[in-house]
Amino acid sequence: MRVDVVSIFPEYFAPLDLSLIGRARANGVLQLAVHDLRTWTHDVHRTVDDTPYGGGPGMVMRPEPWGEALDALAPVDAPPPRLLVPSPAGAPFTQAMAYELAAESHLLFACGRYEGIDQRVLAHAATRMPVTEVSLGDYVLFGGEVAVLVMLEAVTRLLPGVLGNAGSLDEESHAHGLLEAPIYTKPPSWRGHDVPEVLRSGDHGKIARWRREEGLLRTAARRPDLLAALPADRLDKRDIAA
Ligand code: SAM
Repeated sequence: MRVDVVSIFPEYFAPLDLSLIGRARANGVLQLAVHDLRTWTHDVHRTVDDTPYGGGPGMVMRPEPWGEALDALAPVDAPPPRLLVPSPAGAPFTQAMAYELAAESHLLFACGRYEGIDQRVLAHAATRMPVTEVSLGDYVLFGGEVAVLVMLEAVTRLLPGVLGNAGSLDEESHAHGLLEAPIYTKPPSWRGHDVPEVLRSGDHGKIARWRREEGLLRTAARRPDLLAALPADRLDKRDIAA
């Protein structure tokens, strides 16, 4: 997968050299390039912002540098990337969206700062590539950089060959609309707290059932919205009895 990120703070992305993302970059699964938006400015101050039309506080990112950045990174004669613009006013980022993005061949992230990017940049880009405004949640960050780091982690770990054990993707929270059951490792007893007996029984059928029921109980307690949204065919008779 090719990923381009445009930001006025390219240094924010240094952690992408670390851990499994760093390895995915080193072995070519992820071709990631971070670009400084100011590369596409032409004045001595390398200006990227200006006051908002209509008045109000804060500054807005000017369209010209963004237009040139998108022209350079998504040339009209090449297959268009999918443009993702972090915004608290965007569609909520979910595991389902992470899977959708992991199936794309080229993602282009545009990190806003200040009050955000002049809306005409998105309108113009939408004439030649798919554009999605994406929100990490119902709160406001300083800029899009952290949102892009989060999205890149969620997407990269879904790419084939990135996780050592791809089986863990199938059992984790949000894989099938439920939260994962509690997990334990050695020792079997620690500070008066014991690992549930069933997990030490060696009975794989019983363990799978226990995990399923604990996942259901946890989801009901912490995220009843997820349980309510679960299609009926994702529940079996034993789930309903539990
Ligand atoms: N004026 C904007 C609004 O009220 O919708 C908020 C701008 S915010 C201070 C600056 C930038 O941070 C946004 O352009 C976006 O890139 C990023 N950002 C802030 N909160 C975000 C969120 N919840 N999800 C994704 N990106 C966010």
